[in-house]
Amino acid sequence: MELRELGGTGLSVSAVGFGASPLGNVFGDVPRDTARAAVRRALDVGINFFDTSPYYGDTVSESVLGDCLRHAAVPRDRVVVATKCGRYKDEGFDFSAARVTRSIDESLARLGLDYVDILHAHDIEFTQLDQIVNETIPALKKIKESGKARFIGITGLPLSIYQYVLDRVPPGSVDVILSYCHFGINDTSLVDLLPYLKSKGVGVITASPLAMGLLTDNGPPDWHPAPEQLKSACRAAAEHCSKKGKSIRKLAMQYSLMNNEISTVLVGMNSSKQVEENVAAALELSTSGIDEELLHEVEAILEPVKNLTWPSGIQQA
Ligand code: NAD
Repeated sequence: MELRELGGTGLSVSAVGFGASPLGNVFGDVPRDTARAAVRRALDVGINFFDTSPYYGDTVSESVLGDCLRHAAVPRDRVVVATKCGRYKDEGFDFSAARVTRSIDESLARLGLDYVDILHAHDIEFTQLDQIVNETIPALKKIKESGKARFIGITGLPLSIYQYVLDRVPPGSVDVILSYCHFGINDTSLVDLLPYLKSKGVGVITASPLAMGLLTDNGPPDWHPAPEQLKSACRAAAEHCSKKGKSIRKLAMQYSLMNNEISTVLVGMNSSKQVEENVAAALELSTSGIDEELLHEVEAILEPVKNLTWPSGIQQA
């Protein structure tokens, strides 16, 4: 598995990252043996980057990921573990200094770790961004100084949040950003932001190459927030691939891996089979390239919904 540098962190992360939200049962129940086997397989095929959050499955994803990593007996310095703070299932959003400071201790206890490699403020568009600038990031910097997190990140859907925050915090305060659903076949809007992020020395993680299930044969879960127009276009694209005996999932995975300025592509996985399929897609990309003909056909189907997204967050002052 190809490793890529993550901004200026000095971390080398696998191009395919393991999104652990499915381990919180958010896409359906995952038996513990299945979860352990998926993480074991991921490690065996060279995936070293794992992403979770207290929000996923109301803390279940963190506990299960911690159990799976312990069960795999992997040396701590061989994996890069990211978790998040500020978003919780019961409590909603709380980016106060007190809450995020307590949050990292809770996460470390659930993960069974002494430190995480990255601590993100999770979906920051759900608070006034000035709170992130003036309160949350300073609190995260103290957590970094304490050694409980090695690097600091911010995540969220609207791309405008990143420039707002990065323009207002001292240089070097934010090490990485995690953007989702903005670098895939149907939405490539993250690309426009890459030169700015590079100028700030910030590492780039993209998530949801399958658009949270839109670009799969099974389609998205019920809670998927996309407008119906986008859902039906993605359904049509998936059907087109399957009629040709091809996989939209493989094409989507490969597409997101093609930009080397993006260090890692987090895909949610809940079984060894999914790990193997997604890693095989990455290996095939590096040896044979993407199926250009199929890509052009799918891009044409998705053209009417290109970069169509959905609202997320609160009105900013
Ligand atoms: P995704 O696009 O990765 O899609 C995941 C879905 O696709 C799941 O249902 C999964 O089971 C399925 N899938 C994966 N591989 C498959 C395969 N080979 N065959 C068939 N189905 C397959 O969306 P995601 O899980 O939301 O995103 C990936 C990860 O990125 C998350 O787990 C999370 O760690 C992270 N993420 C973070 C944020 C944030 O911080 N705001 C937002 C979205 C995602």
